Amino acid sequence: MGEKLIDGKEIARQKKSLIAEEVEKLKKDGIVPGLAVILVGNNPASITYVSNKERTCRELGMHSVLIRLPETVSEQALLDQVIELNGDPEIHGILVQMPLPNHINETKVIETISPEKDVDGFHPVNVGRMMTGQDAFLPCTPYGVMEMLDYIGMDISGKHVVVVGRSNIVGKPAGQLFLNKNATVTYCHSKTADLKAFTTQADIIVAAVGKVNLITKDHVKPGAVVIDVGMNRNSEGKLCGDVDFENVKEVASYITPVPGGVGPMTITMLMFNTLKAAKAIQNKITAI
Ligand code: NAP
Repeated sequence: MGEKLIDGKEIARQKKSLIAEEVEKLKKDGIVPGLAVILVGNNPASITYVSNKERTCRELGMHSVLIRLPETVSEQALLDQVIELNGDPEIHGILVQMPLPNHINETKVIETISPEKDVDGFHPVNVGRMMTGQDAFLPCTPYGVMEMLDYIGMDISGKHVVVVGRSNIVGKPAGQLFLNKNATVTYCHSKTADLKAFTTQADIIVAAVGKVNLITKDHVKPGAVVIDVGMNRNSEGKLCGDVDFENVKEVASYITPVPGGVGPMTITMLMFNTLKAAKAIQNKITAI
């Protein structure tokens, strides 16, 4: 099984060590890559994500700022906070942890982040740049998926990729990144009439739904690559993905586990994007 597993933890470890080296180089030029995370309220999952991001920043020698705002914060106060960070020279990346309370318009918040500091890659400017194949901040989870496939030396050109899920943060951009690499892409979602009819034709399946065991052995063509983005709890409370791992691994050529697959890559690509944002500032300074 070892050779079939795409070990996200190990790939992330290697990538993070390269990022840490680059951070050290930038520091010699007086630039410390800085990430600011805004957390509104006390959602336990969000608190865990945010503390992981802070810890990873520190591990890689980056500057990290956490701004916690109460659940009752007004939309304007949050926007003002983002605007302040847009102008802060010590901050290169800004991330507002989602979801936000219902009284705050998430789109408005995302659109207020400067595209140059949008390390989540959710601002329409970055989405548009990604769609048109220009240099952009790529959304971290799909970006992490592409890095994993690159690591195993997968040639994506001409492959049929079936993306299950079409959210703005995972499914949609994942399909676009595969298209940019010359794959033929099919999107499936909750209204897809016969999921199996599509997934059994796939050379690569990306499952990004949030449903335990949605993808079974019957959904997978022998030899396909299966990427499991899902993060769910099963009936025993264990962390698992969207894929029936134990059975699907028998037919897949490569498969990502949960935990230890896409998850560690997501946070790594956030660090990479923050480094990229800081480097862009360095390039501007040297160009003056
Ligand atoms: P989301 O916004 O809830 O989107 C889920 C998508 O799945 C929707 O497009 C939905 O279709 C589709 N869907 C629902 N039921 C389906 C079914 N029976 N068959 C086919 N498609 C179905 O979720 P998300 O934010 O994209 O996240 C997806 C999963 O990835 C979650 O488990 C999340 O926790 C996980 N995730 C993991 C990471 C990581 O770092 N590993 C990062 C982000 C998210 P409609 O559009 O028609 O509703």
